[in-house]
Amino acid sequence: MNFAAIVHDIAEALRPQAGQQGHVATYIPALARVPADRFGIALHTVDGIEAGAGDCDMAFSIQSVSKVFSLTMSLQAIGDALWQRVGREPSGNPFNSLVQLESEHGKPRNPFINAGAIVVADVLLGLGRTSADLVAMLSDLCGEAVDIDEEVAASEAETGFRNRALANFMKSFGGIENDIAAVLDLYFRQCSIRMNCRQLARAAGYLCSDGAHPLSSRGGARPALVNERLTRRVNALMLTCGTYDMAGEFAYRIGLPCKSGVGGGIIAVVPDRLTLAVWSPALDESGNSWLGMKALEMFVARTGLSVF
Ligand code: GLN
Repeated sequence: MNFAAIVHDIAEALRPQAGQQGHVATYIPALARVPADRFGIALHTVDGIEAGAGDCDMAFSIQSVSKVFSLTMSLQAIGDALWQRVGREPSGNPFNSLVQLESEHGKPRNPFINAGAIVVADVLLGLGRTSADLVAMLSDLCGEAVDIDEEVAASEAETGFRNRALANFMKSFGGIENDIAAVLDLYFRQCSIRMNCRQLARAAGYLCSDGAHPLSSRGGARPALVNERLTRRVNALMLTCGTYDMAGEFAYRIGLPCKSGVGGGIIAVVPDRLTLAVWSPALDESGNSWLGMKALEMFVARTGLSVF
């Protein structure tokens, strides 16, 4: 398949529509300043072939896409013990919802809604991990130095009232072990990591290669990041929970494990074949990139690639 031509065609077709529907996230003021008319797409195959088009080299705030990597790090460290603290079911609710937490005694439905990712951050903090470890993990996976957008991190901390409420509420049930300010600092900083589509598609490469390090396809021995079993599980969670209350719609229209963020990025996995990253900052009402979803739909229609 000529992936370079495919991503080029998708960018040509969709870029003119960037910013025409949906809205850039404004509840984090630093994100509101990102121009809505951006569109990027990149992919990385299991054999190390890469292709990108549009604004694929422009860095953006990865936001909740970071939850895939923090989940991977926590599963690497404590394995199935994580599931005593967070569930594995779709929430059917918005990513920052408080409602289920009360009836479910402070245990978040899954690690991809904010409450679940805050618990994962608590686990990592308890193991002595910091946001610098996540930055190092992502830099190692994509083979390029990535960093944290300090302005976004400060903006999140300043306006993160709902996340603070989630953390406090869970703490009241005994679901958070560490100091709330420290847990949220880690969570806000991981969300504020900035990367471009090329880097993200490459970094997520272990998800389509049974856990192999994405750069191992370039030669040179590199230890696998995780094992095949764990990769399969992260993919299953992405398919069922990665796009919040739109997960059913994503599975129906795209049919790939996906994880979105309110920065407008989405990563998608075609197991045993490739990983994709798309970015366009304007979001639909569920907080997923409106044009990013369209791009993924176009990619699967054109290539016939799907897990189904
Ligand atoms: N940092 C954002 C928040 O906590 C992440 C949400 C998202 O990307 N869906 O609200």
